[in-house]
Amino acid sequence: MTDQTTTETTEPIFVELVETNFFTRYPCTVCGGCTEKVAILAEGTQRLSDDGESRTVRVCESCLEGSDGLGIDERLDLHARALEAEAALIRSMIGRLKVPTFAEWCKAEREHEVHAHMENYGIGRDEAENKVHRDYPREMGRPLFDQEGEKLPF
Ligand SMILES: [Zn+2]
Repeated sequence: MTDQTTTETTEPIFVELVETNFFTRYPCTVCGGCTEKVAILAEGTQRLSDDGESRTVRVCESCLEGSDGLGIDERLDLHARALEAEAALIRSMIGRLKVPTFAEWCKAEREHEVHAHMENYGIGRDEAENKVHRDYPREMGRPLFDQEGEKLPF
């Protein structure tokens, strides 16, 4: 369980240079962007509770460089403000978002596949429907049945 008081702490978080052998773009805690595919990462640990909960804090090379004249704290503040603004926008959608049903999505997804098969293989609709039915079983994320157990139309 997260102890809320640890967000109030002023204890320093030491970020050190660490080598990685997995080259990918890692998220940056400070700006919300990403590192490039670099070998040396700047990482530390933020303690979240007295129970030992913690998380990795990463600072991308652009934040270290600060070529836009912004310091780490200014970047943290900008990032926090952006997240708060995004949270407010997301919260404002509660009760207003009208979405298609999952069954409608399944039907549209399969219809797309049928048309793709017709074009890619130069076949008619019946053959394409059979091919999609055979090639894309439920396990591949294209359910054959809707939530009520009804077979989805192609
Ligand atoms: Zn950054």
